[in-house]
Amino acid sequence: MKFIADCMLGKLARWLRILGYDTAYQTFAEDDHLLEQARSENRILLTRDGPLFERAPQDCCIHIDHNALEDQMAQLVQTLGLTLDREPFTRCLICNTPLVEITRQEARDQVPTYVFQTQKRFFKCPTDNQIFWRGTHVDRMDECLDRIKARVVKGDTTL
Ligand SMILES: [Zn+2]
Repeated sequence: MKFIADCMLGKLARWLRILGYDTAYQTFAEDDHLLEQARSENRILLTRDGPLFERAPQDCCIHIDHNALEDQMAQLVQTLGLTLDREPFTRCLICNTPLVEITRQEARDQVPTYVFQTQKRFFKCPTDNQIFWRGTHVDRMDECLDRIKARVVKGDTTL
């Protein structure tokens, strides 16, 4: 399952990448460009834009009905059966490239000392050389994912 998110869904795109889903996203993109890329790369188009949704093939486009990220994620869980517990950090949050794990020694000179001392695993983007590690940011995301999971388990997806 691959996605392309419209300009209004940057945060959702980052979250999908965190979960390991291949998600294309650009800050600015014409509707025609989004439709073409969705078609040529076999991606499900996610949009907040009513007119764009109307133009897109209905079997590969989802209109995101909510503004809050948690609600947006819950909607995707409900409609697509997304799994929320994939191994984190398989894709670069910035550019969507698959990440490679690097050794702590390799990471040593490239991350703050505190981070080096407290983290065990590091991941690097081969495209832009960004280094990723778990941290408070990801822990907060885990809490949010747990809340969404709890909602889904209880069947509380009425939103
Ligand atoms: Zn990257």
